[in-house]
Amino acid sequence: MSRQGMTGSVADELVRLLPGRVSMAEADLLSYSQDQGPVTDRALPLAVVWPETIQEVQAVLKWASGSMVPVVCRGAGSGVSGGAHATLGCIVLSLERMNAILAIRPEDEVAVVEPGVINADLNSAVAAHGLMFAPDPASYRWSTIGGNVATNAGGLRCAKYGVTRDSVLALDVVLADGTLIHTGHSTFKGVAGYDLTALLIGSEGTLGIVVGITVRLRYLPESVNTIAAFFPDVRSAAAGVLAVARARVHRHLTSRQHLHHPPRTHTRLTGSSRFVGNGVLR
Ligand SMILES: Cc1cc2nc3c(=O)[nH]c(=O)nc-3n(C[C@H](O)[C@H](O)[C@H](O)COP(=O)(O)OP(=O)(O)OC[C@H]3O[C@@H](n4cnc5c(N)ncnc54)[C@H](O)[C@@H]3O)c2cc1C
Repeated sequence: MSRQGMTGSVADELVRLLPGRVSMAEADLLSYSQDQGPVTDRALPLAVVWPETIQEVQAVLKWASGSMVPVVCRGAGSGVSGGAHATLGCIVLSLERMNAILAIRPEDEVAVVEPGVINADLNSAVAAHGLMFAPDPASYRWSTIGGNVATNAGGLRCAKYGVTRDSVLALDVVLADGTLIHTGHSTFKGVAGYDLTALLIGSEGTLGIVVGITVRLRYLPESVNTIAAFFPDVRSAAAGVLAVARARVHRHLTSRQHLHHPPRTHTRLTGSSRFVGNGVLR
C-alpha cells in the first residue's frame, strides 16, 4: 500500500478507535518524530496517539498488532539514545495525558501513579508528607515516571538510594496484543515468584507499555550538606573519595572536575548526613 493509502486507513481506523486522541497534523508528526537523541535518518510517524486510559492503550496495541503497525512509546521524549525516535510506518503512542497521581500512602511509604506523571510533580506531591521519589535523572523536571522506569534512570541520588529499579514495587503493563498484566507487590517485602518487575524496568518499551507504577518512597533528608574538597591530582582525589566511603558517610554522589587554572581536581560530595560536632559527619 502506498504511504498515502496507508496513512488514510490508519487515520480512519485510529480515529474510529480513539476519537479526539489522534493527530496527523504535520507539526505533531514532526515534533513527535524524535527524542533528544541525535537523528541520523528521520522518519515521520503515521500518527500520534494520546490515550487517556489503560483501556485505550489496550485498544491501540490490540489494533496495532492486528494491523502490523509498529508502535513507538513515548513519555516526555527526554531520552538521549533515540529510544522514542519514530520509525518508518509507526505510530507514536504518547503517555503524557495519563498523568494522574492515583494514590499516596504515607504510612506505607508508597505512591501509585500513571506513567505520564512528571518526576518533579510526584516529588512535590509527596514532599508534603516528608517523603521523596529518589530517582533523580538530570531531566527530573520534565521526564515522566514511565520513561524513568522504561530506561531504569538514575541520577545524583543513585549512589545512596539506587536507580529506578530500586524504587519500583509493582507495575501494570499492556503487552503487544493488548493484554494487561500486573507484576510485583505493593509492599517492600514481596519475594514470591519470578521478578518480572525487574525484567520490565529498563526494557525501553520492548516488552510492553507501562501504564501504572507503584513506587517506593524514601524519607526526605532532614538537611543536606555539600562539601567541596580540593586535591592536587586525580589520584589523591580518588583516595579522598575512598576515605569518605570508608567513613561510612551516606553520600549521594561524588563528581570531579579538572580545573586547569590552577591545575587541581575539585571533588564535590553531597549528602544528607548531619554534622554532629568537630566536623564529624554522621
Ligand atoms: C538534559 C537531560 C538530562 C538527562 N539526565 C539523565 C540522568 O541523569 N540519568 C538518566 O538515567 N537519564 C537521563 N536523561 C535521559 C532521559 O531523561 C531519561 O532516560 C528519562 O528517564 C526518560 O524519560 P521520558 O519520559 O522522557 O521518556 P522518553 O524519552 O519519552 O522515552 C525513553 C524510552 O522509554 C520508552 N518509554 C517511555 N515511556 C514508556 C512507558 N510508559 N512504557 C514503556 N516504555 C516507555 C520509550 O519508548 C523510549 O524507549 C537525561 C536527558 C536529558 C535531555
